[in-house]
Amino acid sequence: LDLPIHDAVLGRAAEFGELPALVDGTDGTTLTYDQVDRFHRRVAAALAEAGVRKGDVLALHSPNTVAFPLAFYAATRAGATVTTVHPLATAEEFAKQLGDCGARWIVTVSPLLQAARRAAEIAGGVEEIFVCDTAAGHRSLIDMLASAAPEPQVPIDPVQDVAALPYSSGTTGVPKGVMLTHRQIATNLVQLRSAMSAGPGERILAVLPFFHIYGLTALMNAPLRQGATVVVLPRFDLETFLAAIQEHRITGLYVAPPIVLALAKHPAVARYDLSSLRYVVSAAAPLDADLAAACAERLDLPPVGQAYGMTELSPGTHIVPLDAMRDAPAGTVGKLVAGTQMRIVSLDDPGKDLGVDETGEILIRGPQVMKGYLGRPDATADMIDPDGWLHTGDVGRVDADGWLFVVDRVKELIKYKGFQVAPAELEALLLTHPGIADAAVIGVYNDEGNEVPHAYVVRQPTAPGLSEGEIAMYVAERVAPYKRVRHVTFIDAVPRAASGKILRRQLRERA
Ligand code: ATP
Ligand code: MG
Repeated sequence: LDLPIHDAVLGRAAEFGELPALVDGTDGTTLTYDQVDRFHRRVAAALAEAGVRKGDVLALHSPNTVAFPLAFYAATRAGATVTTVHPLATAEEFAKQLGDCGARWIVTVSPLLQAARRAAEIAGGVEEIFVCDTAAGHRSLIDMLASAAPEPQVPIDPVQDVAALPYSSGTTGVPKGVMLTHRQIATNLVQLRSAMSAGPGERILAVLPFFHIYGLTALMNAPLRQGATVVVLPRFDLETFLAAIQEHRITGLYVAPPIVLALAKHPAVARYDLSSLRYVVSAAAPLDADLAAACAERLDLPPVGQAYGMTELSPGTHIVPLDAMRDAPAGTVGKLVAGTQMRIVSLDDPGKDLGVDETGEILIRGPQVMKGYLGRPDATADMIDPDGWLHTGDVGRVDADGWLFVVDRVKELIKYKGFQVAPAELEALLLTHPGIADAAVIGVYNDEGNEVPHAYVVRQPTAPGLSEGEIAMYVAERVAPYKRVRHVTFIDAVPRAASGKILRRQLRERA
């Protein structure tokens, strides 16, 4: 475990040699394990020659491409800390991240170059912008492959040195830079490994972004460490995604709930041969058990397995083991991974530990707990208590067999006259209506000062006449009176983060 992340992931590259490691799902470009190993070392040498030093922050600003992992491992091998940037970030957002972490280097792709240049200009302090492809006036990774510079021998302390600095999704507030050491990330790969089977012959479709910790772990580090093939797509587009599964005979999918929703409900799914799939895993946001079942049934697969985690946890603490997918109780996010402790504490009395089947806040302690938020000791102390317990801000319960069920975030719970309503539960119920394509629920205050559920609904094209009243009635017939949806608004699309999370904050601003 005490290896730098590039060695922890690529340690067996020689053994996997000529096996395909990365395939561009758009044009078929393929890199073998041997190439990934040689190429990232060359790029590391060129980065070091260009002046990248141990501890420098390098911003990796790119959609998913086969070059993304090369840039990532090259940077860490050169001793840098990689901060991943949303490829659709505006120049201002990007500049904020650059300034916050004091990045000295940027690796981008030519279509995003303008935003990168502008961001570097606003933030200041950036020495050079490299590109993965080619762009006039910029050194490219392709040129770097020809570098004759010696491979850098940078001493890395896996326990202390920060390998990655992803920013949290910003679902609940301003995104925070999360310091993850080499050991934290490598340890979590091993912890999750007990429940993942990606090895030679497996083909994983990387459709979620590598820049988010879920994609970075499940779609890049984990499969490459095991000798699987990663087929890379730059963005999610349903038809391209389905075509890629068919063409590349994809065996495993790691997705977020909106993709499970599409797989369960979208008519296009029926037009593709998805018979190569053996399992689907969902994480990053609450997934309803009925939706998971509908997806699995349609694809003739074991129930969709879930995993749970957060950026601050490198990122995983729970997963449904592949061999337990058929038997795990519906709706669970999995069992606690090895070497990790969990407590469920009362929401009203945070010092009080709760027992089996009791619902409260999830606390985690283990080797995958982040080193801290960059430059935010106050926020770090709010999150991790002096005994090392990280307060997730998520609500859950554990059954007698140790399966965890996540209800929602503490902050999202709608408090109605002493009752608590989880928006996720109502969203799941709304999605069972055949006329509803998508839904999000937030709490709003009514005239009496009570917080009540307000549903934002996207109608199916086949149900243009579906009314607000019918929807409210549909819910009212199926839930306790305090959970009734009091307001319904139709919208064109539910606002979501790249990781699939509903941006309830945006809906609240709108309300
Ligand atoms: P920010 O912390 O900046 O507000 P964020 O919490 O959305 O953003 P992430 O670290 O990407 O940033 O997401 C972690 C959160 O995602 C968890 O705290 C939890 O609320 C949610 N989550 C992850 N997996 C699951 C799951 N399987 N079921 C329900 N929720 C999940
Ligand atoms: Mg969070």
